[in-house]
Amino acid sequence: MYDLIIVGGGPAASAAAVYAARKRLKTLLIVEEWGGQSNVSADVQNWIGTPSISGVDLAKNFRAHVEKYKDNFLEILFPARATSLELTNEVVEVKLAQRGNEKQIVQGRAVLIASGARRRTLDISGAKEYDQKGLTYCASCDGPLFADKDVAVIGGGNAGFETALQLLAYCKSVTLFNRTEIFRADEVTVAAARAHPNMRILTNAVPTAVVGEQFVTGLKWKDTKTGKEELLPVEGIFVEIGLLPNTEWIGDKLEMSALKQIKVDPKTQRASHPRVWAAGDVTNGLYHQNNIAAGDAVKALEDIYMTLHRA
Ligand SMILES: Cc1cc2nc3c(=O)[nH]c(=O)nc-3n(C[C@H](O)[C@H](O)[C@H](O)COP(=O)(O)OP(=O)(O)OC[C@H]3O[C@@H](n4cnc5c(N)ncnc54)[C@H](O)[C@@H]3O)c2cc1C
Repeated sequence: MYDLIIVGGGPAASAAAVYAARKRLKTLLIVEEWGGQSNVSADVQNWIGTPSISGVDLAKNFRAHVEKYKDNFLEILFPARATSLELTNEVVEVKLAQRGNEKQIVQGRAVLIASGARRRTLDISGAKEYDQKGLTYCASCDGPLFADKDVAVIGGGNAGFETALQLLAYCKSVTLFNRTEIFRADEVTVAAARAHPNMRILTNAVPTAVVGEQFVTGLKWKDTKTGKEELLPVEGIFVEIGLLPNTEWIGDKLEMSALKQIKVDPKTQRASHPRVWAAGDVTNGLYHQNNIAAGDAVKALEDIYMTLHRA
């Protein structure tokens, strides 16, 4: 029986594992892949204390930092994947799949879920080919590379409009594509974007193909009202069509938001079951960044430690 089971391998799980080990909690960390989502980033420039680092090196640092604490208290299963969760008042059970050992079940007094999320990806011609060659899923990471350039944002929710507002600070022009006439974003955010002279908003506009040479040169799109196809010359395309939380393995064991994110108390990161905490992009927290994920996890660990010691 572990004190704590942590699921994940990104900034949230790595921060949690370091704190758990230092607090001498008997911990099992289940890691499918080290580093998390920004693994694919060429240059992460806002991991505090590190002005510039590739996603691959950031993942190596997470792993090295966590493995430094591998001892009688911290056990790491890698590569391994949590496949289901069972909860009672006394114990948490995680079923996991590991090569050569398909049906292992582990038990703990508490679980911290940090299995993160994945971006909903754009499924049109050229989108895969130009991924990270002008097409990106993260404005705070890659936006400054497009200073003084014409760019497009795909998605009319809050994420799309907030991305547009960030880009307007330094891009030459921003064109936002929305599938319908109705925006899912808050009206104030839409109004702020509309007020900017370099902003253009297209409604009933569906992107159909990313075009380019070595890098992106344009975005083809269709006006669904007129049926007319056009080409917008841009050097950058920012896709904000939603995040998919990695919560399928949890089933209906916890309260989730409509987007299937784990609902947590933002003061403590507690989920709806008294033995479950969650941190980072897997939660219904409003903002998603590496520093936030790590901070959430540290907050959770402080609360887990206090809870287990009170019990
Ligand atoms: C392309 C891109 C670039 C980004 N760049 C930046 C940036 O520059 N700066 C910044 O602050 N933020 C950036 N972000 C956002 C940032 O990456 C996320 O906010 C952050 O990674 C969230 O961390 P997390 O630990 O909550 O989850 P994730 O990073 O999603 O990590 C989840 C981990 O859990 C593992 N996992 C999933 N399911 C299971 C399971 N069932 N069992 C075991 N393990 C599992 C996954 O393999 C993964 O390692 C970027 C995001 C993207 C998509």
